[in-house]
Amino acid sequence: MSLLAISKIAWAVGVVAWYVLRIPFQRKARRQSVKDARHRNLRDMTLLTISTLGLGVIPAIYAATGWPAAASYPISTVQVVAGIIVFICALRLFWATHKAIGKDWSVTLEIKEQHKLVTDGIYAQVRHPMYSAFFLWALAQLLLLPNYVAGPAGLVGFGILFFFRVGREEQMMREAFGAEYDDYMRRTKRVIPGIY
Ligand code: SAH
Repeated sequence: MSLLAISKIAWAVGVVAWYVLRIPFQRKARRQSVKDARHRNLRDMTLLTISTLGLGVIPAIYAATGWPAAASYPISTVQVVAGIIVFICALRLFWATHKAIGKDWSVTLEIKEQHKLVTDGIYAQVRHPMYSAFFLWALAQLLLLPNYVAGPAGLVGFGILFFFRVGREEQMMREAFGAEYDDYMRRTKRVIPGIY
């Protein structure tokens, strides 16, 4: 099997593992009733679609067909190994954040009945560790897919979701939790401990 085939398969396995990991958490979260869904709107759905295009659809087309071929470059072993390591770290972090937020998780911006603010464990390091995990996934995609369009598509797609969403999410959390979230914001950075 070629190195390129191995790399594409590693990417696909990572993506499938991501969705499988989420299933039990999604079940639990669905049973929880929603208190504030004002931010579950067309804007947020559009952002989710853009992110899915970049992390899922565009790289899947490339992995299956090689399109766009003109944007491809030769792959290196170091790149593939690094990509697999980063994807494993992303999955581990993703799982830890789901475990921490539990039933209060939602794919769009929502506040649940009896929503509990989490500020300990992985959430003591940064305010948005699940988004950190998505950035690591996008970085793994960049490393695993040697194509100037399909590789960076995840960083662009998820980057758009993140930057257009994160301010609104923090606003929503401040409305729901008041001073408790303000304090939490003072103590923590968004996605990279100590930096941003
Ligand atoms: N931004 C967080 C969570 C993403 S999931 C992260 O990256 O880890 C999005 C949902 O998580 C939001 O609808 C919000 O209700 C909830 N949420 C965000 N931060 C939270 C926190 N610190 N504690 C509990 N729930 C949180």
